[in-house]
Amino acid sequence: MNFKRAVIKVGSALVAPDANGCSGKYIEAIASFISKCQQQGKEIILVSSGSVAAGRNLIKHGSPIPSIETKQAMASVGQMQMMANWQRFFKMPCSQLLITHGDLKDRQRYINIKNTIRVLLANSILPIVNENDTVATEELKVGDNDNLAALVALVSEADALFILSDIDGVYDQDPRGNPNAKMLPNIDEITEEVYAMAGTTSNPIATGGMKTKIQAAEKAVENGIDTYIVNGHKAEVFERLLNGENPGTCFKASQAATKARKHWLKHTLKSSGKLQLDKGAVKAVVNKGASLLPSGINGIYGDFSAGDSVDIITSDNQQVIAKGISQYSSRDLARIKGHNSEQIFSILGCRPSKVIIHRDDMVIISKQEIE
Ligand code: GLU
Repeated sequence: MNFKRAVIKVGSALVAPDANGCSGKYIEAIASFISKCQQQGKEIILVSSGSVAAGRNLIKHGSPIPSIETKQAMASVGQMQMMANWQRFFKMPCSQLLITHGDLKDRQRYINIKNTIRVLLANSILPIVNENDTVATEELKVGDNDNLAALVALVSEADALFILSDIDGVYDQDPRGNPNAKMLPNIDEITEEVYAMAGTTSNPIATGGMKTKIQAAEKAVENGIDTYIVNGHKAEVFERLLNGENPGTCFKASQAATKARKHWLKHTLKSSGKLQLDKGAVKAVVNKGASLLPSGINGIYGDFSAGDSVDIITSDNQQVIAKGISQYSSRDLARIKGHNSEQIFSILGCRPSKVIIHRDDMVIISKQEIE
């Protein structure tokens, strides 16, 4: 498997099977797969469901379909159990990120999530993400962790997404009780027919089913992220993945994640302002592939917020040399420009990031060598 950073989505049926709280029955093999990927130098972010399923037996509820507040209470107590269950299988520390769709839609919170994941990975910590079920109302919810995993793959700039399912992959017909049904190893294009083939879920603990997995694959593939739907119940699936084989259904992205992202940055995002750089900073950014630091900025144009895209221009002829996503607003930048990164905290009272534009959030427009 040729990837550098992957998101792995694990559903409730794997974390808390048999309606009896959390167990290691399936996740032991998944955790061992994660550790082996990391030993190969790959980075992993886990999106784990299971909080409601894990907390089910701990909250009294009379009906088979619990009320929203009962489910939120189950999620609240179950989240702890679920995290503790994962941690049992890792030597490295695990970290918890509870997010909602509202957080991903808000530019400032989006970059906060992205920066947090960057720092966690740089410290060899396993980020474990779930939807913040206790606070998310319907309109703020992603709703299912398949789609959440695709959004996490985007925010964390992953190049692969693995969705662990309870069947081997996507079939051309319903495989339950149908011996002629065939699993599709590759799906090149996600069409209405693919959705029709996916049908709906039959597992009472799972939220999504195959439909939300296809939706997630569609989001990811559009953004250059290869997506695999594989059977998380079978340990041999992980052996095959480690051998570079495809044991399930693969949705191959037509272009690489970095390329798709840079294209989006360059052509789709509208710039809300300009940052003017001195000669040294221009050289560092264009020729050395450096991130943009506050010390090299000598002019700020426009009124923009943190998370907005800006043009990066030269001082002498205002040539646009790059474009990127600013970690700071124009107001804050006016105060820290020309200063060293170490001084940001004393000037602003906070330092959300050491750099103004991270290298991964930047695309070079002018390729000419700057002397
Ligand atoms: N966030 C929910 C949980 O942890 C699950 C949502 C899903 O499985 O898609 O129980």
